[in-house]
Amino acid sequence: MAKVLDSKIPAGPVPEKWKEYKAHQRLVNPKNKLKLDVIVVGTGLAGASAAASLGEMGFNVINLCIQDSPRRAHSIAAQGGINAAKCYQNDGDSIYRLFYDTVKGGDYRAREANVYRLAEVSNNIIDQCVAQGVPFAREYGGMLANRSFGGAQVSRTFYAKGQTGQQLLLGAYSSLSCQVNAGKVKLYTRYEMEDVVIVDGRARGIIAKNLVTGKLERFSANAVVIATGGYGNTYFLSTNAMGCNCTAAVQCYRKGAYFANPSYVQIHPTCIPVHGDKQSKLTLMSESLRNDGRIWVPKNIEDAKKLQKGEMQPWEIAEENRDYYLERRYPAFGNLVPRDVASRAAKERCDKGFGVNNTGLAVYLDFSESINRLGLDVIMQRYGNLFEMYEEITDVFPGELANEINGVKYYKPMMIYPAIHYTMGGIWVDYELQTTIPGLFAIGECNFSDHGANRLGASALMQGLADGYFVLPYTIQNYLADQSIWAKVSTDRPEFEEAEKGVNAEIDRLLGIKGKRSVDSLHKELGHIMWEYVGMGRTAEGLKEGLKKMHELEKEFDTNLFVPGTKEGLNVELDKAIHLRDFFTMGQLVAFDALSRNESCGGHFREEYQTEEGEAKRDDENYFYVGCWEYKGKGNEPELIKEPLEYEAIKVQTRNYKN
Ligand SMILES: Cc1cc2nc3c(=O)[nH]c(=O)nc-3n(C[C@H](O)[C@H](O)[C@H](O)COP(=O)(O)OP(=O)(O)OC[C@H]3O[C@@H](n4cnc5c(N)ncnc54)[C@H](O)[C@@H]3O)c2cc1C
Repeated sequence: MAKVLDSKIPAGPVPEKWKEYKAHQRLVNPKNKLKLDVIVVGTGLAGASAAASLGEMGFNVINLCIQDSPRRAHSIAAQGGINAAKCYQNDGDSIYRLFYDTVKGGDYRAREANVYRLAEVSNNIIDQCVAQGVPFAREYGGMLANRSFGGAQVSRTFYAKGQTGQQLLLGAYSSLSCQVNAGKVKLYTRYEMEDVVIVDGRARGIIAKNLVTGKLERFSANAVVIATGGYGNTYFLSTNAMGCNCTAAVQCYRKGAYFANPSYVQIHPTCIPVHGDKQSKLTLMSESLRNDGRIWVPKNIEDAKKLQKGEMQPWEIAEENRDYYLERRYPAFGNLVPRDVASRAAKERCDKGFGVNNTGLAVYLDFSESINRLGLDVIMQRYGNLFEMYEEITDVFPGELANEINGVKYYKPMMIYPAIHYTMGGIWVDYELQTTIPGLFAIGECNFSDHGANRLGASALMQGLADGYFVLPYTIQNYLADQSIWAKVSTDRPEFEEAEKGVNAEIDRLLGIKGKRSVDSLHKELGHIMWEYVGMGRTAEGLKEGLKKMHELEKEFDTNLFVPGTKEGLNVELDKAIHLRDFFTMGQLVAFDALSRNESCGGHFREEYQTEEGEAKRDDENYFYVGCWEYKGKGNEPELIKEPLEYEAIKVQTRNYKN
């Protein structure tokens, strides 16, 4: 019998669903809250906001992160901003419009009701963060300032220079610290969740490794929330922080949580191009730069060839010989088309030989027009730290005057190329953000919820904070309302014993291989396979080849890995080996999903399914569903379970950013 997924979406018209849910939802009796413990794994924006909110509400929270402080979670990397439908610009924005843009941006593969709720609570997030003292940019008159991000024709992105994630995280961290001080949150830094413990079919605790002592510890609770971020580092080179990993999510998947839409991986168009094979990290240049920067390559292939050989400089190419290909192809949205569209267009130009650096894999992001129009001071006010960051990495200052042709001043442009950035797929959750394991919740980037096949810029922070501040604190109560009648589970139970033994055995196995290859060398090779066969352009044949190669490399990992040191004390190589074990599972899952989805949509581009103009060609008749995967053991193909999508408020149509 086919498995049925209950997404628990309330009945009624889309805009009414969240109100309906809140009206009928059960709340935990305040006296009982004191008896209830919740584990929150992760202190990124999603985890920190959830832990602070749950503590504030009276629950006892155990909060873990792998860094030495919550302030160092990957979320601090977020540069450009956070969306909200405040309509401060009076430009026609509304909750409906943010909802519509997000569903369209996700190529009609998101769950409609979830996205509407997200758009609704977006405004509360800004109020909450302003109240915490987050220093959002302001207009001269004191109003909060906005800029535009891809896939939107309005200005709805709130920002704090190019450090929005850091400022938002400092806000969440202050709230979290208040709760730590009040004794409602117990914070465990440098602890990594290694396994989830299931008792009588429910998540009742976790096994975590103290990364400093190397000891395994057991934590019991009434519910477990994972907020452990995305799986972009499966590709080795990505814009994600080096510590990002998918171990917690993959372990939940192995224990029965379904993994949804793993093939929906976002490739961001504006990253500093790869410059050598010794690199372990790629740097993002925020999408906000596309507000004022124009993307181009030369019109003439001869110019491109000269640029590649270093015989010509971009500022020697006059306006009429530049191809602003996004403005040419998508006149309505121009440089602000969504990321999947911009990335593919860059790849198309480079594949045709128009790339502008020595590898042929780069295009220009040029500020000459906006500097001429607004002056360098204004541009520096908007993007100063991004210009400085670019200069520090490449030794080129993008605001430097380089040439004047026919009275037009040309400044040095940035060079950019697409890179792995964000993962829309994640642990499957229902409307309450609960996974297929009762009592296990997933929030932020580690769930699949709201972005469909492509996330719009500045919407990840919105979703993470919506989940943490406004959605989970309501929905988790529906589950916890029953939990106070159960006796607290002891960590001496056999289920904890067994889970801990399993983690220990895995650690011993990895240390015991004693082969010749370092974790990084294997990870790098996995990354090459992922980028080559499961990256921006995928084919059935390539995906099968990629799976074969991953399988072989995993065997090499299992037999020829070398992890120095012991399990006692700090052992970073051991931790990386555990992460890599899980990146192998994840990489294969991405490929299986991509192979099963015989269509192109959003970040998932199957070369066999494209229009004559090279745009993604969806197949709504056969693939209008969330693809959920159930683990079937190492080396076995997971089972696909479908959650059909139902749209009621939005007409499903072909995405159009041309007019
Ligand atoms: C360079 C860059 C710029 C970006 N800019 C923007 C932007 O401008 N706007 C926007 O909306 N989005 C942006 N994003 C995306 C956004 O930053 C992330 O999607 C978001 O911050 C994810 O938040 P999170 O809380 O879900 O996860 P994370 O911030 O990744 O946090 C995960 C947490 O889980 C912990 N953790 C992980 N594994 C374990 C484990 N096993 N045990 C215990 N703890 C664990 C980590 O310690 C960390 O605290 C950007 C991303 C990048 C890479």
